[in-house]
This record gives sequence, structure tokens and C-alpha cells, in this order.
Amino acid sequence: MEISTRAQKLEPSVTLAAAAKANALKAQGKDILSLTVGEPDFATPKNIQQAAIRAIESGKASYYTPSAGIPQLREAVVQHIETYYQLQYQPKNVIVTDGAKFALYLLFQAVLNLGDEVIIPVPYWVSYGEQVKLAEGVPVFITGAQENEFKVTVDQLEAARTNKTKMLILNSPSNPTGMIYSEEELRSIGEWAVANNILIVADDIYGRLVYNGATFTPIASLSEAIRQQTIIINGVSKSYAMTGWRIGYAVGDETIISAMNDIASQSTSNPTAVSQYAAVEALLGEQETVETMRQAFEERLNTIYPQFAALPGFKLQKPHGAFYLFPNIKETLDLCGYTDVTRWVDDLLEEAQVALVTGAGFGAPENVRISYATDLATLEEAIKRIAAFIEQKSKN
Ligand SMILES: *Cc1c(COP(=O)(O)O)cnc(C)c1O
Repeated sequence: MEISTRAQKLEPSVTLAAAAKANALKAQGKDILSLTVGEPDFATPKNIQQAAIRAIESGKASYYTPSAGIPQLREAVVQHIETYYQLQYQPKNVIVTDGAKFALYLLFQAVLNLGDEVIIPVPYWVSYGEQVKLAEGVPVFITGAQENEFKVTVDQLEAARTNKTKMLILNSPSNPTGMIYSEEELRSIGEWAVANNILIVADDIYGRLVYNGATFTPIASLSEAIRQQTIIINGVSKSYAMTGWRIGYAVGDETIISAMNDIASQSTSNPTAVSQYAAVEALLGEQETVETMRQAFEERLNTIYPQFAALPGFKLQKPHGAFYLFPNIKETLDLCGYTDVTRWVDDLLEEAQVALVTGAGFGAPENVRISYATDLATLEEAIKRIAAFIEQKSKN
């Protein structure tokens, strides 16, 4: 049986593929240092684990839940958004989903028609373009200048706009660049979106992971008009070390949320019940562990950034959020006698046992993504190995 053209055209996730390859080598007993995967290395905080155990033992996690999520969790999201965004929503404006990734998927399915265009700033998170295509939309990629920390401007957006433009995806702090849009930049982008009736998809998943005094401004908080034009995407994976639990959410216009819910009801039925009870505790329970983990990421960033920046040919600016470095390594390739990042990354894995992700899946083929969501000892050992690899290659 031939698979669908839809499935044939799909690019599988490069980050998951790189992580799988590193893990397979590890399983063969190789001493691999993997800086591939975008997930905190911490265990889920104890209070959240306990809430899940209680939900199992009481029996309430045994059953289907409403497809948009249990009422307590939709209410918890409302409260959380009120605290961190100073915005008031109702539970009917909230859908809980199987990770933020599925919230995005549902959103595109609910809003896009064949040929509708979605503007996606480059570098982008690997799933945006593929999910848009699965919804028969057309991703329109625009590249932020590296000098402008890869951020796009209203002039660039306006140049990309057509009468088919329906959405703009904003991810600040960004995966993979770690850059953050300022309030002023967001305001002008928000006003542009309102003036042109373009839905803003605000992927705020790294909103609480910002460093060295940087601030995250939610675009939805900048005016009532911008708020009405925005769907907030967020979740518990990154801030609460809960990637495996698969809980995300979308917040915004009731009509859109309700269409997303109809699609969820015919596809997944509901996010896992036990994870929803755990997520209530995550959002409403003590928040000190979030700050502890944030500080650990910040310390790692401050320690390793200068070391990576000192590697021959590595060009990068210091990120302000998320947990990735995204250097352009074109000059390193020249030094090492390579023309292609993929070959270099493959050889680095084979010969130095360090796994990175190539930038191509993020729309930046001269870059690599380095996740620092791993312990300092591993990071520092990886830097040593990369330095030795570059030195050895540049002698040949
Ligand atoms: C990790 C990530 C997501 C998805 O997170 P979930 O685990 O599905 O909640 C969405 N957007 C970006 C930019 C991410 O890095």
C-alpha cells in the first residue's frame, strides 16, 4: 500500500531524530554526550509527582475527561495567565491539549483552509512549517537578520503579506535562538497584525525561562485589540520539567478554541487524566522549583556561553531565554575543510562522540543547535571534545 502524499511530504522532526540516533549509540555502550534534545534534565518536582500519585490512588485518574480538559485545570490556566500576563480570560477561552505541540496542530487544523498563508520567522521551531502543511496551509518563511538577533521587523512582515496571509507565528523566547522580542518590537508587530486582521500565534512556552535580567513580554498583554487577535500557546513541559506528561494549552477567542475542541474530541478524546491533575498542581502549587531550575539554566548559560563563543569559527550572540545556543559555524566548516554542516555533525558524533542538531531543520543550514538542558560537567566535556575535533580537522 502506498502511503498518502501528505505523509510522503512530511519531514520528520530533526531534533527527535538526532536524539534517537545519539541514544541508539549510547545503548551500544558508546560514551556519547548528547546536546540534542530540548527538554530539562531535571525530574518533575516532587509536589507535582505527589499530586499525580494522589489522582491515581483516589481513582479519579481512571476515566475519560472532558476533551478540553478537566474544569480544575482550565480554571488553573485562567489563574496562571492572570498572574503571569495580567489578563482575564474565562475557562471557555482555554483548551488543554496533549502538549503545546498538539495545541498548535489543532489550531492550524481549526483555522486554516487550503492555500492560507502563515508567516513563520526563520530560524523556527521544527514543527511549525510541517504542521501548517498538514493543515493544507502554506508556510511563508522570512529570515530575521543575525545582526538583529534573528528577529523580524514589521517591514519584513509587510513585504511578506498577501491577501492570503492568515497567521503569524511568534516564538519569544525563541527555540532555537534564545532571543526575545522587546515590548516595543512586539507592539509594532501586534499593531500590524491587528490592522491586517492576521491572527498572532504566540508560542510562549519559554516565557518563564529568561536570564540575566531579561524580561518576557506577552504580546497579548499589549492592548485589548492585540489580545483579541492572539492565541496564546503554552504548557508545562519546559518550565516544570514535565515533557513526558504531555500537557499544553491554548488560550484565546472562544470560537477558535471551541473548533479546536471539536477536532480534539474526534482525535485524542482528552489529554491523559493523571497528567491533567499533575498540571493543576504545577500551575497552582509552589513555584520555587521553577525558579531553582531557571537559575541552574542561567548559571550554565553564563558558564558555557564564553567557552562555546571561543571555539574557532563559532559565531553566536548570547541568548536571553530558552535553553539553546545556535551558532553559525560556517567559518568552522571552512577551517575543518567541510562544505556541509550535516557531514560535520555526523563526523563529530562518530569521531568525538558529541551529538548536536544541524540547523537545517530550523531553516538555518549554516548553524547547529546546542541544548544546554544538561549538566555542566557534560557540557564542559563536550566543549573540550569539540575543540579537539576542530583542532585535529584543521591540521589535516
Ligand atoms: C518544546 C516546544 C513546544 C512543545 O512543547 P510540548 O512538550 O508539546 O508542550 C512548542 N514550541 C516550542 C518552541 C518548543 O520548544
